[in-house]
Amino acid sequence: MIVKATTRLYGIFGHPVEHSLSPYMHNSAFVKLGLDCVYVAFDIKPGKLGDAVRGLKALNVHGINITIPHKETILNLLDEIDNDAMLVGAVNTVINKDGRLTGYNTDVGGFLRAVKEDFGLLPDGKKIFVVGAGGAARAVVVGLATNRAAEVVIVNRTRSKADALAQEFKNHFPKITFKSLSLRDSRAISTEISNTELVINCSSAGMKGENPLNLPLGLLPKGACIYDLVYEPSVTPLIKDARDLRLNSNSGISMLLYQGVEAFEIWTGKKAPVEEMKKALTVKKFLDDVE
Ligand code: NAP
Repeated sequence: MIVKATTRLYGIFGHPVEHSLSPYMHNSAFVKLGLDCVYVAFDIKPGKLGDAVRGLKALNVHGINITIPHKETILNLLDEIDNDAMLVGAVNTVINKDGRLTGYNTDVGGFLRAVKEDFGLLPDGKKIFVVGAGGAARAVVVGLATNRAAEVVIVNRTRSKADALAQEFKNHFPKITFKSLSLRDSRAISTEISNTELVINCSSAGMKGENPLNLPLGLLPKGACIYDLVYEPSVTPLIKDARDLRLNSNSGISMLLYQGVEAFEIWTGKKAPVEEMKKALTVKKFLDDVE
């Protein structure tokens, strides 16, 4: 890759951002398609987001990903926001078209494509169990609801947040059944999980340094799938439990890949080189894991 006077600039805003895998994924895609583009990481401290967003227009940066802690704050700084991003209440991808900034949330489509590619699963008509009620859970619930899941059970450590999320989405999607539970309510969890087709961990449980989730996976019906949004470590305690029970399972690395694929396609209007992006992610992740 040679950076020239004509090179289009893309990147990511976050804080901290130095561990982001996105530059590897997007730069490998630009090289593969021979595009005169480069993707860099910008460490934007809280309080500096407004300046950074004005900078996108001034410097003609063509597209930007947004990560923690700016995904919600950026909503008020954009010219237009896509429907899914509005429902989630967060933006992770911005395109700059002639100085007009439009925000998207590609975690929604990224999650849906991950479970379709990994398990051949579509939410349509299914009962789905979601652990967590933070930003990632909101993106997943929007994906499930807009793709006509029959029932969504939201389980969270702080019960009131699960209740609020379930109530909010009941109002938006009255035909879908939403339930909310506390992660401590093991009896209700056992009942609800026993006829669930997909369990999704959207909480930080199981991340390095966090407690693992202890769900009664043995009660799941045959053929059920487990998707863990956490991908650090590569094999989370939940994925290990699922593998021990020979259930279909995968970690969130595929969601990370497909949210990047969607962002790339929004920015360039071209079909993303998925295999190349996957290879870049896998190699970088492997190197991080052995470090
Ligand atoms: P967030 O908004 O901070 O929400 C965190 C959620 O995790 C809350 O529901 C919180 O419960 C719960 N939680 C935290 N520690 C827990 C523990 N030890 N046991 C049980 N529940 C716990 O974070 P987020 O943005 O939603 O991200 C959640 C996870 O998803 C992170 O690990 C993130 O890396 C991952 N993620 C992955 C992708 C991907 O592409 N694969 C995309 C987005 C996020 P309380 O409400 O009780 O605090």
